Amino acid sequence: MVDLGPDDWELAMADERHSRLAEFIEPFRVRPGSKVRLDRDFDPAFRAGVKKRDATALLRQGIEHLAEYQARLAAQDTYGVLVVLQALDAAGKDGTIRHVMSGVNPQGVSVHSFKVPSAEELDHDYLWRYAKRLPTRGEIGIFNRSHYEEVLVVRVHPENLERQKLPQASKRGDIWKRRYREINDWERYLTDNGLRLVKLFLNVSKEEQRTRLLRRLDLPDHTWKFSVADVRERERWDDYQEAISDMLSHTSTEWAPWYVIPADRKWFARVGAAAVLGHALMEIDPRFPTVGAEQRAVLDAVKAALEAQAPEGAAADPFESRHGHVAPGTPAEHGSGKEERAHGDGAAPDASR
Ligand code: ATP
Ligand code: MG
Repeated sequence: MVDLGPDDWELAMADERHSRLAEFIEPFRVRPGSKVRLDRDFDPAFRAGVKKRDATALLRQGIEHLAEYQARLAAQDTYGVLVVLQALDAAGKDGTIRHVMSGVNPQGVSVHSFKVPSAEELDHDYLWRYAKRLPTRGEIGIFNRSHYEEVLVVRVHPENLERQKLPQASKRGDIWKRRYREINDWERYLTDNGLRLVKLFLNVSKEEQRTRLLRRLDLPDHTWKFSVADVRERERWDDYQEAISDMLSHTSTEWAPWYVIPADRKWFARVGAAAVLGHALMEIDPRFPTVGAEQRAVLDAVKAALEAQAPEGAAADPFESRHGHVAPGTPAEHGSGKEERAHGDGAAPDASR
């Protein structure tokens, strides 16, 4: 029998969690190259056998997992994560962001909501405004609506395309196929440069959307969320379903697959979104930077100098005397990680100069 050390145990737990998450999210994944018909292929009420009474505990675990990995992502400062959140109105984008990201250090996260493009934005190529909002390395960025609106609302309402001031030649042929290719290429470029894309489509049914719109009208505290425009968009339900199906068929790639999250139950959508994001972070497997031997020597010298400054009667190292010696590389409590990361880039700390 093989003995498991504490590190092995942690790794085994991580492996176990990784494969469980992979299995859980597999039904949501849009296989690259498959032809999707949303209403036939994805059930908005699916809940993978999860019971509502377990959802709170599951989400709490998911949130803790995200917080831990986000700290590592920030500390490593090599990869960024872009969460692309698409959905029809009232599918629960806002609530999903609020709940799923609730345990994560706000310093490591950026959220941007994309609305109807401004005059300045329309004066640029269509991907410009999205490129401007990409997360940095170490950061999790969330796009609440995204570049995918460019093949959804713009397709369903062609007047949006007119406003984009494209030259005639750019409107000829199959503009949507061209945009899919451009988006895939752009996402490939971003992936090659260290950005991991997590694309979530929150899939709500027409009847559940009706219920939620009525709820907004019925509850005074929620009426501010109601927009007559949402009801008008609802009239184009079938056109949207078709545009979404086509988008999923053409832009789910090996490097940036789509996940269709069943969203008729808000609690399930949150667990599902947290699982897909948690899985992506595990795949990145970010690590806290470790300190090399040369740098360790520099840090040890600085430590000795600080210890020598102890006033009479004080411990040389009050932290160590209180908590004992901590082996190098042992993660303590972490924040977003970025502000407290070790000098993983090899730069000597200021105090050594
Ligand atoms: P909420 O859940 O609060 O209603 P929302 O994302 O629907 O959030 P709104 O301000 O209601 O926000 O709507 C934003 C609108 O902007 C949407 O109708 C969306 O289709 C539209 N929009 C987003 N991107 C584009 C685009 N590139 N071209 C045209 N319209 C766009
Ligand atoms: Mg809206």
